[in-house]
Amino acid sequence: MMPATEVEVAIIGGGISGLYAAKQLQRRGVTDLVIIEAQPELGGRVLSTSSIRSNAASPTAVSCSLPSYDLGGAWHWPAHQAKIKQIFEELGVQTFADSHDGDLLVEQSSYRPPTRWSAKEPESVFWRVQGGMTHVVNTLKKDVEDAKVLLSTAATAITTLDGVDKVRVDCSTGTTITASHVLLAIPARIAAAKISFEPALPSSVRSTWESTPTWMAAHAKYVCVYSTPFWRDEGILGQVLSTAGPLSEIHDVTDLNGTHGGLFGFFALDAQARAKQSDEELKRACRGQMVRLFGPKAAEPLADYIKDWSRDPFIATEADARVDGGRGPGPSYTIEGSSLEGKVRLIVSEASPEFTGYLAGAFMAAERGVEDICKARR
Ligand SMILES: Cc1cc2nc3c(=O)[nH]c(=O)nc-3n(C[C@H](O)[C@H](O)[C@H](O)COP(=O)(O)OP(=O)(O)OC[C@H]3O[C@@H](n4cnc5c(N)ncnc54)[C@H](O)[C@@H]3O)c2cc1C
Repeated sequence: MMPATEVEVAIIGGGISGLYAAKQLQRRGVTDLVIIEAQPELGGRVLSTSSIRSNAASPTAVSCSLPSYDLGGAWHWPAHQAKIKQIFEELGVQTFADSHDGDLLVEQSSYRPPTRWSAKEPESVFWRVQGGMTHVVNTLKKDVEDAKVLLSTAATAITTLDGVDKVRVDCSTGTTITASHVLLAIPARIAAAKISFEPALPSSVRSTWESTPTWMAAHAKYVCVYSTPFWRDEGILGQVLSTAGPLSEIHDVTDLNGTHGGLFGFFALDAQARAKQSDEELKRACRGQMVRLFGPKAAEPLADYIKDWSRDPFIATEADARVDGGRGPGPSYTIEGSSLEGKVRLIVSEASPEFTGYLAGAFMAAERGVEDICKARR
């Protein structure tokens, strides 16, 4: 792309909301667009183990041939989230329900063996995408030409241009993009902290953006991979609740083919406590917990991975890393009371009127932004 370019729509952020917005805009005839993504890869809070190196005991060559496991958003709940079910069907991605066939483990102390509880069918069944959520990212990306995607490019400023009804987006690479519409597909807190707006954001908008926690940004996932899901042979589900830690909640993330066994856990330690240990120390503690829970076969995973979202500079702010804010009240979707109103819209998942913070919310927020741009063009 030229250092100075003009497009109809600039989409800032290449996670699910940004990518789905691009797909929907193109479907509706708006093809003059660009996606600006700060990271070298698309996906945002959707990331798979194949994107990061396992610096576990295993050689990288082994981890390259393993299935992909989600390090970010993974589950959806089609019984309640009709929209995401419909979108996955349209995209032709295969989905499947998590199994509930087996006992769950409850660990109350690292000195006592866990107790087994027979798992009940949950009120809402958790579903996953075969190949992980990055399969959805890759499927969405297929519809967007490479030339329309700027990777490793962070938007740094958005400025109203006088007299032309357009805005200018300045980027970290020196590129400037002039656009009639901007879709901000980035966390509200990141937008408030990292992008300078001219004119300045009205204080009411700034305060809703700053006080909107980015869902799950405070968390970290640990994923470990084995040659088989051996725990299933003993009637164990792979689901664990632990007050002993370091992982508080563990789930079986083996894929539909079951060619390897995958487990993932959320840390009980908060971001500050995690920051005091190296990833290798944390992994050692996690492997120790896996042995306590699943026996000696769990001692040496083929690969294991940690993704700490609180350290991702384009997802979490200091406020997110300090406290897990859960899901807050929705941030302002438009920049009311400013000349940026009607030109800049927030379409990250947290801005969705429904399923705020969830994957389903990312699709729905994108749809609203696209609908409003299409209305404005008529
Ligand atoms: C650990 C974890 C587990 C989760 N589990 C689930 C789950 O099981 N089910 C579920 O429904 N949801 C889950 N979620 C939430 C789900 O992942 C998100 O709702 C969804 O991915 C948000 O997509 P998005 O496109 O709206 O935003 P994001 O994915 O946050 O995308 C924002 C993008 O903008 C980019 N960006 C930021 N600043 C700039 C800038 N200045 N310039 C250019 N680009 C920028 C970022 O790099 C990123 O790619 C989970 C999230 C995490 C972190």
